[in-house]
Amino acid sequence: MTKINLKDVLRTPKGTRDLLPEEVAVWQKIEERAREVAEYYGFRPIRTPHIEHTELFTASLGEASDVVEKQMYSFVTRGHDKLTLRPEGTAPIMRAYMEHGMRAWPQPVMLYYNGSFFRHENPQRGRYRELGQFGFEILGDDSPVADAMIIRMLTLVLEELGIKNFTVHINTLGDKECRGDYKKELVQYLRKKVNYLCKDCKIRLKQNPLRVLDCKDPNCAEIKAGAPQMIEYVCAACKSHFKEVLEFLDELGIPYLLDHALVRGLDYYSRTVFEIFLDEKKPEEKKKKKEEVKTENAEVTEAADAVKPQEKPALNIAIAGGGRYDYLGKMLSSKDIPATGGAFGLDRLTDAARELNINLARKKAPKLFLIQLGSHAKKKSLALAEEFRQANIPLAMSFSRDSIGSQLKIASRLGVGYVVIIGQKEAFDETAIVRNMEAGVQETIPLPRLLSYVKNKLKSK
Ligand SMILES: [Zn+2]
Ligand SMILES: [Zn+2]
Repeated sequence: MTKINLKDVLRTPKGTRDLLPEEVAVWQKIEERAREVAEYYGFRPIRTPHIEHTELFTASLGEASDVVEKQMYSFVTRGHDKLTLRPEGTAPIMRAYMEHGMRAWPQPVMLYYNGSFFRHENPQRGRYRELGQFGFEILGDDSPVADAMIIRMLTLVLEELGIKNFTVHINTLGDKECRGDYKKELVQYLRKKVNYLCKDCKIRLKQNPLRVLDCKDPNCAEIKAGAPQMIEYVCAACKSHFKEVLEFLDELGIPYLLDHALVRGLDYYSRTVFEIFLDEKKPEEKKKKKEEVKTENAEVTEAADAVKPQEKPALNIAIAGGGRYDYLGKMLSSKDIPATGGAFGLDRLTDAARELNINLARKKAPKLFLIQLGSHAKKKSLALAEEFRQANIPLAMSFSRDSIGSQLKIASRLGVGYVVIIGQKEAFDETAIVRNMEAGVQETIPLPRLLSYVKNKLKSK
């Protein structure tokens, strides 16, 4: 019998850790809060297996991506299947969407997931080989509001946890119409500097030149600072999509930075990509920065110019990230399934919550339910929801394209006293209908007066 090396056996494998009761308690509260946000906004839970066919990831993440090349835990089973411990959540959810015919469900299909993912990475602070992720996906929707919605979900969870100092780094990768032109320009530029690139980037230049922009090597960082920027090459459709995403973020007061070096490194991304960083700056400074960034086409380019890559907080690990993945459906089958999603890392967030001494006491139940019908109303209600949140009025809303009937059903299930309804007509008239659920009566109120009206109603109750 071979002797067991106790020194190794009595230790978790490299890059993994035990979560002790106190840590699990924080972790669970974060999950709970995220789940509440997800359910309020109409997302539904999904669980996929921890193992998937290896090809699901090689076909979708890209053979030349770091994840596929270096980080996957792949193995051959006793039954000779090639399987992989899931390194990320999006491809499995797209697989599930197809496998279960979710195209026949009312679109978009809005899902959230929560679980362990596995990547063979070099362990560092906040980064583990078994990592916890909580994610949101909207499948079957190509609109910019869906992208903004995903970012909203993630930032809302942070805000719910009392984390205020964060910035969304955002970029557009264009689509198949325009990314080719950009790649050509980039390759031409990089070829001239090839001798100064690191070893990895020399290979990337051949296999996946966009990934050079992702390199952390200081020499490469200098080169990429002078590289052509995607935003100058995107086609009109991609530009207007991006502009609209930024307009939503403006409306919601979400602080963001245009970061033209942000590429996310996976083949399935198109158009919007983003990462969220915790930062050291005071919230006031950030607000100012945001106001400077106008969303007129010309100014988008200008603002992108203004953001030097070195402004990205050093050593900072993104706490969340995601993007649009309109081509993933095509890569896995032949179907066009526009989709967008994002996730936050539970390990990093749990650490941050503990460091920041965040109060995780339970939130009050919602007193108000916001119903919006149609895209114009949706835009209005996102900003409105933020007003109510800042006024400390617990609010729930459904973002899905459900009918007014089913939305009212959710409202009564939540037991809210009042429902605010914004339809196309109300959005156009800048009004809202306030319905007293108990009495069954309703009144039309101009939007500027809505908050004070609702406040009074709730007070007199
Ligand atoms: Zn490099
Ligand atoms: Zn395009």
